[in-house]
Amino acid sequence: MAMLRAMISDNLFAKNTVPIVRKLRSHDVRPTRQRVQIGCLLFHGADKHVSPDQLVTMLQAHDIYMSLGTVYNTLRQFAEAGLITEVAGMGDRLVYDTNLSSHHHFLDVDTGELIDIDADNLQLNGLPHLPGGFSLDGVDITIRIKR
Ligand SMILES: [Zn+2]
Repeated sequence: MAMLRAMISDNLFAKNTVPIVRKLRSHDVRPTRQRVQIGCLLFHGADKHVSPDQLVTMLQAHDIYMSLGTVYNTLRQFAEAGLITEVAGMGDRLVYDTNLSSHHHFLDVDTGELIDIDADNLQLNGLPHLPGGFSLDGVDITIRIKR
């Protein structure tokens, strides 16, 4: 079982390493081994919302052990480089989003899970006047849901 899991993870990383190294370099992020490993998990398949502690667990499932501090710092560097964005999670929980398009979220208040809402699927009937001296940076709406 452990061997099978290791083979699956090898495939994931072997298949994605080259494009991830290219992606990191194109954003002026030096492709260290740990950054590439995190990138392989984040940037394959569908868009993801992940917190640093979730990512630690995801890495462990591939037999990769990184400290929460390392994962946290890497995610912050990715966000500063424009590879991911920071989104509001539950309470003060930090969540990062690989979907860089303008969109909104459902937030499951029981699990903290975020679900993307296409920007086109939510109509805003105008915005309030911005305080003096401010310009609009973006509008992200979080709709809280529960079962
Ligand atoms: Zn999202």
